[in-house]
Amino acid sequence: MIPIAKPLLGVEEEEAVAAVVRSGWLSQGKEVLAFETAFAARVGAARACAVSNCTTALHLALLALGVSRHDEVVTVSHSFIATANAIRQCGAEPVFVDIDPATYNMSPDALEAAIGPATRAVLCVHQMGMPCNLARILPVAWKHDLPVIEDAACAIGSEICLDGTWQTIGAPLADVACFSFHPRKIVTTGEGGMLTTRHVHMDARFRLWRQHGMDVSDTVRHKARQVLFESYSVTGYNYRMTDLQAAIGNQQMTRLDDIIARRRRLAERYHEMLAKMPEVAPPFEPGWARSNWQSYCVRLPDGVDQRAVMQVMLDRGVATRRGIMCTHLEPAYADTRHRYPLGESERARDHCVLLPLYPQMTEVEQATVVDALQRALRLSRRGRRTRSAT
Ligand SMILES: *Cc1c(COP(=O)(O)O)cnc(C)c1O
Repeated sequence: MIPIAKPLLGVEEEEAVAAVVRSGWLSQGKEVLAFETAFAARVGAARACAVSNCTTALHLALLALGVSRHDEVVTVSHSFIATANAIRQCGAEPVFVDIDPATYNMSPDALEAAIGPATRAVLCVHQMGMPCNLARILPVAWKHDLPVIEDAACAIGSEICLDGTWQTIGAPLADVACFSFHPRKIVTTGEGGMLTTRHVHMDARFRLWRQHGMDVSDTVRHKARQVLFESYSVTGYNYRMTDLQAAIGNQQMTRLDDIIARRRRLAERYHEMLAKMPEVAPPFEPGWARSNWQSYCVRLPDGVDQRAVMQVMLDRGVATRRGIMCTHLEPAYADTRHRYPLGESERARDHCVLLPLYPQMTEVEQATVVDALQRALRLSRRGRRTRSAT
């Protein structure tokens, strides 16, 4: 069976976790601090704050920008539901705009058209690791005095060329960037998230909020030679990462460059192999973007049954996923007014298939995937001919 994804973990991660267990300090401590430092250095940020996952990171980012009840945040429906959920967790409502069908990312024109008097912020997504068009999105937001959060859950190590300079996602290029360490992402801690921001005061807020609004952390009290009493100036959350997770994260960071290099080579090979199948549209990487290829998304030709293709591939031992979900089509969002067309988002969900891609993947496995896809398309064409003949 060829899975859709597979984390790259080794004995180093095992030993790092064992060392934390032996240390007796399992909650947020020195491993988390080291992970934050390594992460900030890798993405070129001045600071990074670790949290329990990317959804809690998005929640804190939105809160720090002042998003609250009756506000609107412009974002994409074409994303994992956590993007929109984080907006609702602030009491605000998402306003969904469509994607550019070539990059599967927020259309800057659609964003511009959706900004209104209730808009409080923009939440753009670097979907599947492909940087969204910040060169156009940021000026639109700034023209309207709106802060921008980057949902960079999938985009660890992706790069974008802005004003002629290549920069790593999370530098951060907007106000705040949020990352995920879920096993489906580039590097993993099981569950985990990270916030980077250009604003010192927001970073301070994140640190306060993630530990119940407590002004003296338990690590500081533990080390203090004087009795310290903590106080709670704001209502916070428990959004902490554990040292067990961060110890894994620290090992994963040493693998990051290798993981991305491997993923880029594998994506290159998929491009070459798919060139023989002109009916399938491979993903498009603009000249100003370098994706980490968190997902490799192909678009099937019109009229081909997506589910049937995926089933034939599964029968041949190849796991796939359909295109990115559309949040506005889920029952939880049925009561949201959708003011803007979302046709490209829906088409991407219904016509795209994500192919397996993981750093350990072999050329033989890739060939098996492409063969299975080819066979599935042949069967589907035959099926269509039979249907039209009857
Ligand atoms: C995975 C993902 C999230 C959620 O990340 P968690 O760490 O699982 O909370 C949010 N946004 C996008 C685009 C994602 O892919």
